[in-house]
Amino acid sequence: AADRLQDLATVPAITSDGFEVQLEANISSLKELEHVLRNGASGVGLFRTELLYMDRTSLPTEEEQFTVYKEVAERMGGNPSIIRTLDIGGDKQLDYFALPEEENPFLGYRAIRICLEETGLFRTQLRAILRASAYGQVKIMYPMISSVEEIREANRILSEVKEELKDASVPFQSDIAVGIMIEVPAAAQIADVLAEEVDFFSIGTNDLVQYVLAVDRMNEKIAHLYEPYHPAVLRLLKFTVESAQRKGIPVGVCGEMAGDIKALPIWLGLGVQELSMSVQSLLKVKDKVLDSSKEECVRLTERLLKCGTSSEMRAVLDQFNSKIT
Ligand code: PEP
Ligand code: MG
Repeated sequence: AADRLQDLATVPAITSDGFEVQLEANISSLKELEHVLRNGASGVGLFRTELLYMDRTSLPTEEEQFTVYKEVAERMGGNPSIIRTLDIGGDKQLDYFALPEEENPFLGYRAIRICLEETGLFRTQLRAILRASAYGQVKIMYPMISSVEEIREANRILSEVKEELKDASVPFQSDIAVGIMIEVPAAAQIADVLAEEVDFFSIGTNDLVQYVLAVDRMNEKIAHLYEPYHPAVLRLLKFTVESAQRKGIPVGVCGEMAGDIKALPIWLGLGVQELSMSVQSLLKVKDKVLDSSKEECVRLTERLLKCGTSSEMRAVLDQFNSKIT
C-alpha cells in the first residue's frame, strides 16, 4: 500500500470529473524539503519561519535568513514557495526577545501586530525574502491579519524595502505576490474587501476555528469543544472562498484541516484549488482526490451548509466518506 501511494508522487491531483487541486507542503525548516519533493508536492504552501528565530540567543540576521529562503526557492525550482512572515506570540516565545506578560496571549501581541511595531525585525525579514525571490517562485504571506489597515501598513513597509534594494541594485522579483492568512474571524467576514488588497488568501483553520468558537486550541480541558465541523466555521469558509473566487484571486487552505482526508470533500465542494499540509499527508490526500467527484462534493457541501449542528454535519460527512472508500 505504501508503494502504491509512492507511485502517486508524480501524478497530478485531479478528481474523476477533472477538477485539479495543487497539493503543497507545510514546512518549518530546510530539513523537510527533501520529503516535500519526494512526496510530489507542487509547492511549499506554508513556510513557517518561526523556527529560524527559535532556540537561539539573538535574532537571525538578514544573511542567515536569505540563505535559507534562497535554498527553498532554488530547490523548489519552478514551483511556488509561500514564505510567511514571523508569527511569534501566542504560544510561541523567543528567549532573547522579551514579549510582554499577557492575560490572553492568543488575543494579544502576536504575528503581524509585532512586526508592524518592531519594524526593524520586519524589514530584515522582508529584505531576506525579497532577495530570495530572485532565485525562484517566492511569495510573501502575512499572518493574523484582521483589517485592511494592517495590510496597507505592511505593504507600505514592503515597498520601502523594495526601494532600498532597487537603489542598491540588489536583484528581486519586483511584482512578488503578497497574500494573507485568513485565520481571524474578522478577516473572513470582510474577505470580499480584503480580496481587493492582496494577491492570494490562505485559510489558517487552526486559528480560525479557535477564534470563531472562542476555544483555546492549546487547552486540553476544552479540547472537545474545538470543533472544525461547526456550522459557523463552514459559513466563514464558504464566504472566504467565494470572495476570493469573485475577485479572481487564488485561495488555499494551510491549517490541519487541509491534510485531513475527512475534510477533503468540503474543500473540493467549495472549489478550493490549493491545499497545503504536512508532508506525511500529501499522498493520502492525493489518493482520495483521485477517487473523488467534484460534483458530488458540491452537492455534499450544499447539504452541509444546511446543517444547524456539528453532529448533523458529522453524520452527513461520515456517511458520504464511508460511501467512497
Ligand atoms: C493556522 O492557524 O491554521 C496556521 C496554519 O497557522 P499556525 O498553525 O502556524 O498558527
Ligand atoms: Mg495560525
